[in-house]
Amino acid sequence: DSGGAATDGAPGPAEVSAVVAGFDEVYGAEPAGVWAAPGRVNLIGEHTDISEGLVMPLALPHATLAAASPREDGVLRLHSADVPGGVVELRSDALAPESGAGWAAYPAGVLWAMREAGLAVGGAELHFTSTVPTGAGLSSSAALEVATASALNELYGLGLTTERIAQLAQRAENGFVGVPCGIMDQMASACCTAGHALYLDTRDLTHRHVPFDVAAQGLRLLVVDTRVKHELGDGAYANRRAACERGARALGVRALRDVPYALLNAALDKLADNPAVQRRVRHVVTENRRVEEVIALLDAGDTRAIGPVLTAGHVSLRDDYEVSCAELDLVVESANAAGALGARMTGGGFGGSAIVLVEEAAADPIATAINEAFAMAHARPPRIFPALPAAGSRRLLLR
Ligand code: ADP
Ligand code: MG
Repeated sequence: DSGGAATDGAPGPAEVSAVVAGFDEVYGAEPAGVWAAPGRVNLIGEHTDISEGLVMPLALPHATLAAASPREDGVLRLHSADVPGGVVELRSDALAPESGAGWAAYPAGVLWAMREAGLAVGGAELHFTSTVPTGAGLSSSAALEVATASALNELYGLGLTTERIAQLAQRAENGFVGVPCGIMDQMASACCTAGHALYLDTRDLTHRHVPFDVAAQGLRLLVVDTRVKHELGDGAYANRRAACERGARALGVRALRDVPYALLNAALDKLADNPAVQRRVRHVVTENRRVEEVIALLDAGDTRAIGPVLTAGHVSLRDDYEVSCAELDLVVESANAAGALGARMTGGGFGGSAIVLVEEAAADPIATAINEAFAMAHARPPRIFPALPAAGSRRLLLR
């Protein structure tokens, strides 16, 4: 099976050959190995991780490949086929946050996080290619970090678990790149298994692989990349985080995760003086509940029944957490009007991607309906592709 990127986004033999050839072209040698780490969508559990809550991402077939070799002189050399410009060269023993490394901060940050953690890791040269759309809310950044961490883990015989790899990748993004993200994306990229979603408790990182084999059930999961990114993002996220912390303080809990769904109405009454905080709290508490509902349905093999829960999650993100946008709402409304089982924005919001759960036979008509709705609204056409829940990070080649 050639299974190339042209069909399902998964890197196949052609992509492995290309990353090896690219490495050779850049560094003049064969790489010691090739590692892959996927992008992700979140099935349910959005904006719950800052409240130590529950999430359920799945890995996409789309992945970032790292061809890599160790270096004995302590030099770190980084190159990406997706970025114009040459090799970025840094000293592995002199890495510091805010070094203005641009894209290279993601992989350099991983090496920095490893050294900060006292791991014996030195120089390396890496060349990256990727089939993960960048900046589409599909977590190309986590794919880049986890591919790097997986490569360094084996090149230096560190023996790290996938959970530890995810933590180091998150530390790189938080502490070196300077993005205050949660752990969901890195855990998805490092730990997912094919045909499953990853139920993850972000408080203690306990997790479980929950069956979500859409193909076997005659279903399709469509990813709809709106190709818009509205730039109110960062301030809005800080504001949401502050509201969640304020809500938790007012309710006397460590994090909103500790507000039981059964006590939601009483909690909301206590927040009556601040309707915005009230809405944020309602989103987080009901969203954690929706994760539990989806797990129960998937464990029972009732995959179709999660559709309305996904759509309810979207409505909550739109009205209570207020992180959707016109394009994401248009995907959800047009897909559901055309007979989708359910749909929701996925990721941070204000643009990026949505997911749509459909019967296999309805996938094409529903994709057409979404496209038509965008044309009617004079919006830029979205990019729509089906995604099978895929495997997390793995080694593809070792010489
Ligand atoms: P997302 O993770 O949703 O795709 P981010 O803004 O978090 O969006 O991360 C995108 C950034 O990650 C890019 O701007 C680039 O700096 C870096 N990046 C991702 N993939 C690659 C790649 N294959 N090569 C080089 N840089 C990449
Ligand atoms: Mg990212």
